[in-house]
Amino acid sequence: RRVPPGYGRPVSSLPHRRSTSGLSLPVVSLGLWQNFGTGTSFDAQRRLVLHAVDRGVVHLDLANNYGPPPFAAEETIGRLLGRELRGRRDELLLTTKAGYRAWPGPYGEHGSAKYLRASLDESLRRLGVDAVDVFYSHRFDAATPLEETVGALAQAVRSGKARQVGISSYSAERTVEALAVADRLGVRLAVHQPAYSLLNRWVERPGPDGTSLLDVAARAGMAVVAFSPLGQGMLTGRYLSGVPDDSRAARGGPLRPEWLTDDVLGHVRALDGIARAGGRTLPRLALAWVLRDPRITSVLVGARTVEQLDENLAAATDPPLSPDELRAVEPHAVE
Ligand code: NDP
Repeated sequence: RRVPPGYGRPVSSLPHRRSTSGLSLPVVSLGLWQNFGTGTSFDAQRRLVLHAVDRGVVHLDLANNYGPPPFAAEETIGRLLGRELRGRRDELLLTTKAGYRAWPGPYGEHGSAKYLRASLDESLRRLGVDAVDVFYSHRFDAATPLEETVGALAQAVRSGKARQVGISSYSAERTVEALAVADRLGVRLAVHQPAYSLLNRWVERPGPDGTSLLDVAARAGMAVVAFSPLGQGMLTGRYLSGVPDDSRAARGGPLRPEWLTDDVLGHVRALDGIARAGGRTLPRLALAWVLRDPRITSVLVGARTVEQLDENLAAATDPPLSPDELRAVEPHAVE
């Protein structure tokens, strides 16, 4: 057995969805964007990650800039892979990305081959692994030819440093272009990671040729991993009676308090009522709604505590939303 002594509990499994690109992902995955840096103790981070893995959340989503500050989340996973998770690398699906600012200067962000190559090498060093399972271009970069960005992804696969590659937040149009370049270079873009939630439906919107990102991804057999499915916490009970001190909106992070308008909170309150009427909680309703579409391979939750994660994991086995629930939700599923 490769399970180290003292950590012999069998890993429970969650339902998985498989895309034609070959990725099989638990329907609920864990993202390490916000709660894995200096604002959270290593002990709390360790507890959350080990609990997630124990519960079958084997897909851990990273990027060079996650923590905050940058590098911190990858360092946490690297430390755990050297200790509590030693010998368990092959059970996990580790993804990382480059695209946002990781270090100063023009080669510390965006989509140049120089940046992507250096960043992937640094991610592997921090994680202490030979390869990640997926390496993403984190965002489209209009200033760099797509040939160069996608070429760097192809090189990552050829060098064995990434098993698969993907793109994040590229529009439907740019995704079509990137797929064509990838095809020419003989590499497969296996996955797209866009934002998708009851408060953000851009992936459904038809592009200039009438095709939505979800259509493009489905046609290409890409897995779709939906990020911020809880709207960074807005689609939970967190903000229904003010802004709690320990919340993301209060911490000066990427969730701006001014987004919590009366209009948004009105929809959230209505959704909360629909969730209760169906015997669910609001986060479970929000996750079930994203997962209603079979083109979604996994929802990427950013739980901060074990309790939040456990609640979100219930959505992996909850019954799908009924036609009545879907109808009731529709007027409150806004852009
Ligand atoms: P969510 O929409 O899941 O929001 C997470 C936040 O919601 C938590 O920090 C917590 O807020 C709150 N929360 C989560 N579960 C519960 C619950 N059950 N009850 C109450 N509150 C809850 O996702 P994120 O915005 O964190 O994004 C998830 C992941 O997606 C990231 O970690 C990252 O991997 C990926 N991502 C990718 C991006 C990209 O560009 N590719 C961009 C953004 C995210 P609080 O801290 O206030 O308690």
